[in-house]
Formats: sequence, C-alpha cells, structure tokens
Amino acid sequence: MELHRNRGALVPATTAEAGPRHNWAGNVRYAARRLHRPSSLDELRRLVAGSDRLRVVGTGHSFNRLGDTTGDLVSLAGLPATVALDPDRRAVTVPAAMRYGDLAAWLHPRGYALANLASLPHISVAGAVATGTHGSGETIGNLASAVAGLELVTAGGDLLTVDRAADGDTFAGMVVSLGALGVVTRVTLDVVPTFEIRQHVRLGLSRAELDAAFASAYSVSVFTDWRSPRLREVWVKQRADAAPLPADWLGTTAADAPRHPVPGMPARNCTPQLGEPGPWHERLPHFRLGFTPSSGTELQSEYHVPRGSASEALAALDPVAHLIAPVLQVCELRAVAADGLWLSPNHGRDSLAIHFTWTADAAAVLPVVAAVEERLAPFAPRPHWGKVFGLAPAAVAAALPRYADFLDLACRLDPAGTFRTDLLDHYLPRD
Ligand SMILES: Cc1cc2nc3c(=O)[nH]c(=O)nc-3n(C[C@H](O)[C@H](O)[C@H](O)COP(=O)(O)OP(=O)(O)OC[C@H]3O[C@@H](n4cnc5c(N)ncnc54)[C@H](O)[C@@H]3O)c2cc1C
Repeated sequence: MELHRNRGALVPATTAEAGPRHNWAGNVRYAARRLHRPSSLDELRRLVAGSDRLRVVGTGHSFNRLGDTTGDLVSLAGLPATVALDPDRRAVTVPAAMRYGDLAAWLHPRGYALANLASLPHISVAGAVATGTHGSGETIGNLASAVAGLELVTAGGDLLTVDRAADGDTFAGMVVSLGALGVVTRVTLDVVPTFEIRQHVRLGLSRAELDAAFASAYSVSVFTDWRSPRLREVWVKQRADAAPLPADWLGTTAADAPRHPVPGMPARNCTPQLGEPGPWHERLPHFRLGFTPSSGTELQSEYHVPRGSASEALAALDPVAHLIAPVLQVCELRAVAADGLWLSPNHGRDSLAIHFTWTADAAAVLPVVAAVEERLAPFAPRPHWGKVFGLAPAAVAAALPRYADFLDLACRLDPAGTFRTDLLDHYLPRD
C-alpha cells in the first residue's frame, strides 16, 4: 500500500455547480449542498481535504441513496481520461469515471477484452465496482473481481494506491467499497484476449433445467414473469467457437426475431441476437450504448443466494408470486462465480442472482420487496448494494463474514466519517 501525503498548503476547493440533480431512475433526488466537477487530481484532493461530507456520483444508475450526501457531491467526469494498457501484466488502468462501453470500444481494436460486462455498458467503472455489479456466467466473477489495483483519494486528501498482488487481504476489503473508503480515481482491471460471442434467445425453459442452462454457455441470463411455472426466455451468450445449440436445446424453442427482455420495449435497444457472431462487448450486455437500457421507468432490487440453493430459493418465492407479478416488469436470474472480496454479494459462494425490474410505483413495490426478503431469509440473501432493499442490518451483517472487518477498515481510513451517508450509517453503524 503506497501513501502519498499531500504536502502543499490546502486551499479552498473550486466549486463547479454542474452535475446531476437526481439518479438515472429519478427516484432519488440528490440532497447535496454543492455539486463539483474537478478537472485535475490536485483539485480533487483539495476538495476532499476541505470537505466534512462528500460522496462521488458515477453515472447515477443506482436506485438507492448510497451515493447521496447532504454535503459535497463530486463527479469525476472532468478528470484526465488517460487509459494505459500493460500487455505484460494483462491489465488496463482506466479513469474511475470511464463508462464500460467506452472502455470496451477502446480495448477491442487493441486485441483485448474484459471477461464480462453487466447488462448495460452505460455505467462507470468505479461506480459499478463499488457496488459489486455483475453480469452472468457460472465460471466468471462479478466486475469487481477483475480489479487488480486502485488509486484513491482518502479523507484528508492523501493519495493511496493499492494492488491485488502486494496488498492481499486488505485489498480484498477495498474493492467493493460502497464509496466508504475514499474517492477512487483510477482502476486497474484484468484483460483477456478479445473474443466473439453469439447470442441466442430460447423460449420456455423448465425450472428443472436451470442448472443445465447456466452450465451450457459462457454467459446465460434467464427471464421470467412469475405468472407461469416455465421460465419465459433464456439469453444464451456462447463463445463464437463453441458448438451450436441443438434445435431442441433443453426442451426450449428458438425465438425467431430479436427480443427485448421487458415486454413491450423495442428490440432495437438490445444487442444483436439470432446467433449472429460479434465482439464480446456488443453481445455480453443486453442493452446497447446510446439506447435506453431496460425500460427507463422502473425500480430494481436484487438478491444473491447460494447457487446450490437455487431451486429451493425460487420455490420459496412461489407463494408470493401473486404479489410479485402485478408490480413486475421482468425478473432475471443469473449465475455469478464466488470471489474473495469482503463486501461482494458473491463473497465465498457461487451465487444465483435473483433480480427484479419493478414498476416505478414505490408505494406498491416496497411491500412486495419486504415479502420477497422474508421468503428468501432462510438463504442468507445478500442485497445488490446499488438497488432497492430493506433487509435488516443484522441480517446483511450475518450474511457477509467480513462485514466487521470492513467496518474497521472504513473507520481506520475515514476516522472523521467524511464519506459516510445515512444509508451507510444504517447498514454499517459506528459505535
Ligand atoms: C438499467 C439498469 C441496468 C442495470 N443492470 C445491472 C446489471 O446487469 N448488473 C448489476 O449488478 N447491476 C446492474 N444495475 C445496477 C448498477 O450497475 C449499479 O447500481 C452501479 O453501481 C451503477 O454504476 P454507476 O456508475 O451509475 O454508479 P453510481 O450509481 O453513480 O454510484 C454507485 C456507488 O458508487 C460510489 N462511487 C461512484 N464512483 C465512485 C468513485 N470514483 N469513488 C468512490 N465511490 C464511487 C457512489 O458514491 C455510490 O455509492 C443496473 C442499473 C440500471 C439502471
């Protein structure tokens, strides 16, 4: 761990009154007193050193108040946008605010790829990593698991660099940070040789075939509506050099036209399907950069349960299917490989991620979220940190074995609580 002390006299930070006033979904209006867009690292360090309450906003695609503050809200989109590829280390170092879609378009022509992407390429690297954002793939970890190094500005304005190889266990505590440890300015990610994917949509999977479906391709997403016992659609993302799916694959039929996972939304917002091969970054996300992802009018919740309990966890939700269906746009099931990151929803266990795209009607949705949480309780569900959830803090703590260690780390790196928010105070209370 390398710490660079800011030795110069601190001068008041410049305030740029430009930045988002609410999150992407519009359900969180930021309460920040000031919005800042520093254009240099030094300006950011002075800003952090001079603030008593500060949070960073990435692209604002989270659905809760994790990224909000009553103090200073900072966008890093004005910092230098240098990207550095290190072919020997098989790694790329990127500015925190860079969107995955822009990074992918930079990497692919240079012969490199990321192992996985989320359903949308619109999100910032640091914002996605901070919440443990993931795609699907039973042998692929979430996006944070590809992080090999971080540079961050800690409370007081110091610059800290941490590295997976050198900082071991502490590093594992710092990646899924919830923004509680400092302002991440640069992120180093593992890269792999670029590859091509074919995407097929298959219709009508039996729940009994879920494990077989996840095991059958590089990345598999299953969509359902809780109105029928069969799972409505399977989005199969195969490596282009893999054997084609048989016509009667797991008892499903092939969709004969491109689809959008949310009924009624246009398929042109989605990445190409029907088995047409194409680069990884134009197939792994469901949604295309430059188009609205998902429906645009929605709330989202997501819970990670052990993969081995997948069928029991889904069966546990059957008794509340009649509550889920009326406020649901679509439910997505994904597989995520285990990692060692302390606050990762996939810490130490291969996971089934059960995602809900709800209607935007919070009053109708929140009681159903509570019902889902109650039904999933026996499976120690871990919430997606960037989505709507109401689990009791003790339940979240009990589901994550390194929770107390993370709290200690946050207290050490941020003793005055500069990066605290109401939501963090609720879930990670200090004595
Ligand atoms: C349409 C849609 C589809 C989605 N699909 C997926 C999906 O497929 N998989 C999935 O897992 N999630 C998904 N999400 C959720 C989303 O990926 C996460 O909420 C993610 O964190 C959003 O990234 P962001 O850049 O918008 O971060 P923000 O929402 O802006 O910030 C998230 C958190 O990170 C902190 N943060 C941001 N930048 C920094 C920084 N530089 N330093 C320190 N802290 C920082 C913020 O303070 C905040 O606490 C989806 C969301 C939407 C709206």
